[in-house]
Amino acid sequence: MTADQSARPWLDPDRSTTERVELLLAQMTLAEKVGQTHQVANIHPDDDAAQLAGGRIGSSLFASGATGGNERDEGVLAANIDAAQRHAVEASRLGIPVLFGRDVIHGHRTVCPIPLGLAASFDVGLVEEVAAVAAAEAVVDGVAWTFAPMVDLSEEPRWGRVAESLGETPVLSGRLAAAMVKGFQGDDPSDPDHIAACAKHFAGYGLSAGGRDYDTVSVGENTLRNLHLRPFKAAVDAGVATIMAAFNDVDGTPMHAHRHLLRDVLKGEWGFDGVVVADWNGIGQLVHQGVAADLREAALLAIEAGVDLDMCSGSYAAHLAELVESGEVDEALVDGAVRRLLTLKFRLGLFDRPYVGEPIRSNAPTDASRATALRAAHAAHVLVSNNGILPLAPGAGTVHLTGPYAEAAEELFGTWTLDGRGEDVVAPATAFRARLGGEQLLVSDGRFSDRSVQQVRNADVTVAVVGEHPWRSGEANSVTDIGLPAGQLEHLRQLSRIGKPLVVVVYTGRPLELGDVLDLADAVLVVWHPGVEAGNALADIVFGDVAPHGRLPMTFPRTTGHIPTSTHQRPTGRLIELHEEGRQGRYLDDQVFPRLPFGYGLTYTSFEYGELRTVGGTELSGAGEVVVEIDVTNTGDRAGREVVQLSFRDPVAQVTRPLVELVDWAFLDLAPGEKGTASFTVRADQFAYFGTDNTTRVDAGEIVLVAGPDALHGSRLSLRVNP
Ligand code: BGC
Repeated sequence: MTADQSARPWLDPDRSTTERVELLLAQMTLAEKVGQTHQVANIHPDDDAAQLAGGRIGSSLFASGATGGNERDEGVLAANIDAAQRHAVEASRLGIPVLFGRDVIHGHRTVCPIPLGLAASFDVGLVEEVAAVAAAEAVVDGVAWTFAPMVDLSEEPRWGRVAESLGETPVLSGRLAAAMVKGFQGDDPSDPDHIAACAKHFAGYGLSAGGRDYDTVSVGENTLRNLHLRPFKAAVDAGVATIMAAFNDVDGTPMHAHRHLLRDVLKGEWGFDGVVVADWNGIGQLVHQGVAADLREAALLAIEAGVDLDMCSGSYAAHLAELVESGEVDEALVDGAVRRLLTLKFRLGLFDRPYVGEPIRSNAPTDASRATALRAAHAAHVLVSNNGILPLAPGAGTVHLTGPYAEAAEELFGTWTLDGRGEDVVAPATAFRARLGGEQLLVSDGRFSDRSVQQVRNADVTVAVVGEHPWRSGEANSVTDIGLPAGQLEHLRQLSRIGKPLVVVVYTGRPLELGDVLDLADAVLVVWHPGVEAGNALADIVFGDVAPHGRLPMTFPRTTGHIPTSTHQRPTGRLIELHEEGRQGRYLDDQVFPRLPFGYGLTYTSFEYGELRTVGGTELSGAGEVVVEIDVTNTGDRAGREVVQLSFRDPVAQVTRPLVELVDWAFLDLAPGEKGTASFTVRADQFAYFGTDNTTRVDAGEIVLVAGPDALHGSRLSLRVNP
């Protein structure tokens, strides 16, 4: 044992984490404990030196600079973080390191597709790899903790934050969330290439009224449990280190004061032993939400509800000690929060290795990180219509690339990209030029429509890259109309009128109304915001080196007026099957079912499905399993990947259950003419749900399974469950 370790026995790495935490906690004054619950924004090593030395700052998100220099310049962020850390570790009484967080959402330096684009891959391994690459780059900058994954389920494309989500359905979102947690944290978050993850925003945020950000949420506990809490539970089961509380209220109780969901359900029922962090000033906003008279009362409500770390409201730092001294807050609540926070710091290895240290490595994109980003960008391409124009044949002639994103750089990153750099992006025009040379490529930015219309005449095919600027989606960026941004549809109409083939590429952070685009274009690719490899991925897909294989992770409603619509629609009293049209109280002026359902996506070949069959009976007893299979044949002349989706419906339950819900999926990579079999093992607990008393149950009775290419189509089979 070193001298330091005998004076500070919690530094001895041979002791258990619990022992280290208790040894340290026993030494802490109330003020030092409160310091651990206080997170500041943009810590500044000089300005915050006294606070750090006094043990008054437990965590920081973002770090700005005593070192001078731009935080985005290589090494500056790490140097700032290390300088601040030195004050905390070397100048404070107990030497507790600061926990540095940052929003590393879909890549750090190597920006990958936005989470909704990653979700389109349906690829658990790929999503884990993307998170692992991001973590390894983030640690170089001194980041120990990211605020991802966001697992809010939403049927609300007006809400800009769907860009950050992993889709609308619990099983897809839950599995991808677990994969991200694994990618960020690794098997052991103290491993030098890993960081702590944070599942957010707990809970119900995806139901913000009207799709307006931060708005109120009216939802019952049963719907929360049967849908919205499930991806959080999956993240907790995957060992997520932290959970962030949501800004919204749930049926009148703001989540930062929601004792039942935070303390009883998350920490109690689920046994979550990590940290609950507030969202930005979320505790302070309890005053705006009208449930606390002032910051003092807000702090009281939040600590009682189970919020362990105050992000940036300052309410814990200002009032927690006094609330304890006055007897209004039991010190045991503060101890509980501090225990969780210290445990996380020990788990991350911060006490053993607090500094980034010298020399600071580069975290610029490498061949390997770009290869991951490229595969992720390929997988984000969802082909939603194609009359055969794609892929463009080698002798397709002159290609006209037009639209506001033809030469785009960081616009193709999408929301929440703090550290990506425009110069790392391969623009569509750059990649097309590399392939076609100057002779066979015309590029116009589409701003001067006369010029781009003229170019259509001069070319054999036009590829129009349109869609949303990243600032039109993401946090606080909601819209009242999910049509293409102003002017784009008119421009596409002009281009199509000339009668030359038109391929439309849609970069977007949300599902858009695409009916008119589908009608006028020869092919449409929905690509989300794809990151640094945007251009290379598009060229690979358009010219057929890679066949598109993404699937829509959210329903695309016909129009804004159709929102909300998703696969989780529940049956009403007027019977209607999911794929049927008919009045039954629905809209007079339009069909109700989406043009592009959840799970939809084409590739460059076609597939024929057989009938869903069972291997070994249709009875699902106790903990037993049944294997169901479906044959799929590649009936086209190119190789392709089919994402075979298994959904289910529970026709009789205690509460209304979704008309269709994804339960599993499988990839089949098939050569022309090849027949493959998708095989799924199902267990009764996959059909468990929360009944009228909000406890989980599996009923005896029928479960209808549907296997097909998307949520609306497929072959059915009934199983009998005997729990
Ligand atoms: C967002 C969070 C984010 C936090 C920190 C908030 O406004 O809601 O998702 O992690 O800011 O940047």
